[in-house]
Amino acid sequence: MFAVNQGIIQVSYIIATILFILALGGLSNQETARRGNWYGIAGMAIALVATLAGDVTQNFELLIVALLLGGSVGIIAARRVQMTQMPELVAILHSLVGLAAVAVGFANFMDPDRLSHYAGVELTIHDVETYLGILIGAVTFSGSVIAFGKLSGRISGSPMLLPARHWLNLLLLLGSIWYGYAFVVQSAAGGGVMPLIIMTVLALLFGIHMVMAIGGADMPVVVSMLNSYSGWAASATGFMLGNDLLIVTGALVGSSGAILSYIMCRAMNRKFLNVIAGGFGTGGGAAAAASGEDQGEVVPIDTQEAAELLSNAREVMIIPGYGMAVAQAQHTVFEITRTLREKGVNVRFGIHPVAGRMPGHMNVLLAEAKVPYDIVFEMDEINEDFPDVDVSVVIGANDIVNPSALTDPNSPIAGMPVLECWKGKVSIVLKRSMATGYAGVQNPLFFEENTRMLFGDAKETLDEVLKSL
Ligand code: NDP
Repeated sequence: MFAVNQGIIQVSYIIATILFILALGGLSNQETARRGNWYGIAGMAIALVATLAGDVTQNFELLIVALLLGGSVGIIAARRVQMTQMPELVAILHSLVGLAAVAVGFANFMDPDRLSHYAGVELTIHDVETYLGILIGAVTFSGSVIAFGKLSGRISGSPMLLPARHWLNLLLLLGSIWYGYAFVVQSAAGGGVMPLIIMTVLALLFGIHMVMAIGGADMPVVVSMLNSYSGWAASATGFMLGNDLLIVTGALVGSSGAILSYIMCRAMNRKFLNVIAGGFGTGGGAAAAASGEDQGEVVPIDTQEAAELLSNAREVMIIPGYGMAVAQAQHTVFEITRTLREKGVNVRFGIHPVAGRMPGHMNVLLAEAKVPYDIVFEMDEINEDFPDVDVSVVIGANDIVNPSALTDPNSPIAGMPVLECWKGKVSIVLKRSMATGYAGVQNPLFFEENTRMLFGDAKETLDEVLKSL
């Protein structure tokens, strides 16, 4: 049809790569995040056009139909998805990257010209690339589907712990290595399809088993870990196709996901290997017992009293959690913040790294509501200030303000740093009932002497508080 100069394509790839790096840089800060997104969109548009114009295929009709189909599904899904379903959407999109790597791997293997293009060491390298691409892709695919199920509540959040599960994992790993060897040997002789299929099944089982064994409280790490895996799967696909841009982009996603996993682990005071080994955040036992115990009385208040407490305060700390996302209360929170600031109250936000259901969840909501960035603080920046705080407003947050994480070594979230609002003068907790949060543990904060419970949907109660203010 038409051929575009390879040089132009390579230059386009380099420009796209630079734009992706700028995008990641931009996304690291709220003030530059919007710009970062635009860099990403521009980079992806250039990458798509350059790839289409390159020598991928001459079958443009098929490509355009696929693009239109995929693009439409993407637009419909993105438009329909509620903010609270965002983590599930991200998980299911990761699964597609894994699936694509598997499909490309098999297509690559079945390429009739494979044996005439490659021979000797080159063939071995190509086969190893194909094998690894399919392996990582299959783990990413099945792991992400299970993560989707857990995040959307279709599968229980508590870990599924099979007996001898570590041995099972080891067996799956050894099996994958053995079949990898068998594949490379048989492929040189023109075969190899059987070991490839067996390994794919093993990898799918491994992905399912790995994420099923990880408990509710560790899910933030899983989300970022699968993000990283999807990057490595894309990178492996790049190696299979000999596409430099895909290799670099995949590596960018893979390494940034790995860094995010590390940050999440640190935020939860967990070791990455322990997370992978699973079993943390056991939904049943300890949690159920704790919620059944008599923990004392709670003190409910109404919206009028909450408004009075806020008006009389000098220092207010707002702690948003998953419930604020469910209630879509961020705009009312912004209005309340503005009103209080006009009255001379110093209002700040304390953000826990795993608040909500995805990394950065609360920051996104607050940015959407136009809350000024300079009053939004990370947990580490403000956790020591609570003794000086007059009123903490805990909006639909639970696990991230649970003191038992620090005091009860048997708690499923033991060791996770939390926002220590009980050290302030008063905490107002907004939630609908006495139900537990994601980790399934009861929260002693609610029974503290200086805690006031404001029951109801956070948006509705905050609207009332705003009126009273
Ligand atoms: P939690 O899930 O601990 O608690 C949320 C609370 O919000 C619930 O107790 C619920 O109580 C309340 N709530 C729900 N809907 C409403 C509403 N409409 N109005 C008012 N309250 C509401 O959330 P946190 O943000 O405190 O903690 C996050 C948890 O999620 C952690 O355990 C974290 O490990 C996990 N997680 C985090 C991920 C991440 O990447 N950030 C990913 C996956 C999991 P009630 O029903 O009584 O209203």
